[in-house]
This record gives sequence, C-alpha cells and structure tokens, in this order.
Amino acid sequence: MVGNRFRQGIPPVNPIPKGMRIAPQTEFGKGHVPWNKGKPHLARENNPNWKGGVIPASKVLRHTHRYRNWRNAVYQRDNWTCQFCDRRGVRLEPHHLKMFAHFPALRYDVDNGITLCYECHQLTKSPDFNEELKAS
Ligand SMILES: [Zn+2]
Repeated sequence: MVGNRFRQGIPPVNPIPKGMRIAPQTEFGKGHVPWNKGKPHLARENNPNWKGGVIPASKVLRHTHRYRNWRNAVYQRDNWTCQFCDRRGVRLEPHHLKMFAHFPALRYDVDNGITLCYECHQLTKSPDFNEELKAS
C-alpha cells in the first residue's frame, strides 16, 4: 500500500463510514411503498400543501377550471373576435384590462377581460401600451 501511505493518520473526509445508515427508523427502505402511491387526488395542485412546485402561482392559476371558465366567458361575450383588429379564426388570448398580478380580485371578472388575438395581445405587453391605458 505504498500509494496510500501519505494519508496515514489523517481522518477520512466523509465522517460517515461506508454502508452506515444515518437514520434506520426513517430511511426509505426497500419494499416500502410511498405514502402517496396510487393516490393521484393528493398529487400536485390537489394537495393543499403543494406550493406550485417551481412554477410561479400566476402560471398555475392559468390552468384552473375557474380561469378556463372566465376565459370562455370572455371569448363568448366578444364572439371569439379580437377586440382590437376584429379578426376571427385566429389564435385568441384573453387579456386582463386591469393587470392580472395587481388586481387579484378581478382575475375572474368577465368585465375585466377582453378577447385579443395573439398578435394584439403581444402589443399589450409593451410598456408603452400600459402607459396609454393609464393615461386614458
Ligand atoms: Zn388582433
């Protein structure tokens, strides 16, 4: 063992010896079943403790039934027509007149929604557009 002689007397860097179990009572052993296995109703957003994973809450909200209902109600009222350029049959997106992030109470208010096509919706995301809205 010539090669290891220089390490003699130096304690190993890893204080836990190989194969040692730190917490045998709580470790996840072979043959154990995860507590949530087969319980999809407890998964992800259905679990009250789920914090949205790595996705911001604003994105999660966009996939709730409530949001979908709101969006459909806005589309229906506007007859699936872009309210800026009057086009139909294009990719539509709902726009919040009062900003989604700043007016949580109005997120699902149909009066706060407007149907836009994808292109017009992009325009609303420019700072200039929001300045115009504030001015009007
Ligand atoms: Zn448009």
